Amino acid sequence: MNPKELQDYKQAGGIAQHIRKYARELIKPDMPLVEIAKKIQQEIEKQGAIEAFPVNLSIDDIAAHYHPTIDDTTKATGLLKVDIGIQINGFIADTALSIDLTSDNQHKELIQASEQALTNALKQLDQNPTLSEIGKTIQQTIEQKGFSPIINLSGHSLAQYTIHAGITIPNYENHNENKLEPGAYAIEPFATTGEGKIYEGPSGNIFAITDHKNTRSPTARKILDYVAEKYEALPFSLREMQEKFGPMARLAIREMENQGILHNFNQLIEKSHKPVSQAEHTFIKMKDNKIIITTKE
Ligand code: MN
Ligand code: MN
Repeated sequence: MNPKELQDYKQAGGIAQHIRKYARELIKPDMPLVEIAKKIQQEIEKQGAIEAFPVNLSIDDIAAHYHPTIDDTTKATGLLKVDIGIQINGFIADTALSIDLTSDNQHKELIQASEQALTNALKQLDQNPTLSEIGKTIQQTIEQKGFSPIINLSGHSLAQYTIHAGITIPNYENHNENKLEPGAYAIEPFATTGEGKIYEGPSGNIFAITDHKNTRSPTARKILDYVAEKYEALPFSLREMQEKFGPMARLAIREMENQGILHNFNQLIEKSHKPVSQAEHTFIKMKDNKIIITTKE
């Protein structure tokens, strides 16, 4: 990795740290998700960065990929996962936290399980572990606390303008004996009281351009130009398009999805509909050490 790239990753990571803190202070029980989504995006742009993806605000059994629409009445309740992506010149810091919004703190231990799994996995990196060994650490940490890891969600390598760049870091012992090459990676353990698998539910109101081809609807063309310029192929929200382009945005996005221009990210929902916690940090693996960019070490 060249010094300029590393500098961009560090800058994205620093802003991600700020947004984590901002989100923790901002979010209160029963606050509308759409208000949280808007404020977080505004704060990211105020810091001179752009979202690498719309902030995911996923409640209880929704593990990931939920973002409110403009008229969404969903309020922050239960176990809320806040998954934040920041990019500087396309170099991405990806980080997540879980917030317990119940009055009796009933998800405290479940949140601690994913956080401790992440801490242990990051510590283990200094021993140059295999991917399976990282997964085993995550699995054991979560199971020792009486919960299950979600095995069909995983950490991943990152590349410029690419959130999932090919390498998967498992959340369980998967017998992949490969080791991490130098580069950028996110580790993201998910813990649940349920069976530990997710399925794809309805749209999470998050989309990305997969094939930038011509479309006839004027609103669709405007959206396509705006998104390509601002986000390239990174994900964007229906909400932002509704704010920019009005009520026609929803139909235009549906048309583009049908034309194969856009990918629709579905909500990832725990199969037994039990609550899910998540923790995530991004690190740069150098030849002889690592730099965790989304937290102070
Ligand atoms: Mn991630
Ligand atoms: Mn994430």
